[in-house]
Amino acid sequence: MLSKAFAKRDLAELPKLSDEERIFRRLLFFMHSSCDHRNLYGDDGEMHCHTCDIDFVRDSAKDIEERISDINLAKYAESLKGNDTDE
Ligand SMILES: [Zn+2]
Repeated sequence: MLSKAFAKRDLAELPKLSDEERIFRRLLFFMHSSCDHRNLYGDDGEMHCHTCDIDFVRDSAKDIEERISDINLAKYAESLKGNDTDE
């Protein structure tokens, strides 16, 4: 099922990306499939994660960086909860 934000976008309208930018965005997209972000849509030139709603084609590099940083910080914070050794 598509997220609401993804469904609103005009799927026929893909932004023009340089070959190099498309390669780096594709690498980010595939690397992003680790852990619990396996709900990826990659048909028709799209690169979208339905778990966190990152659009690897249309979102700015800054927005993608911030979203991935937030996700990783949340995972790190969650990992610390099980490591409380104050005994
Ligand atoms: Zn994701």
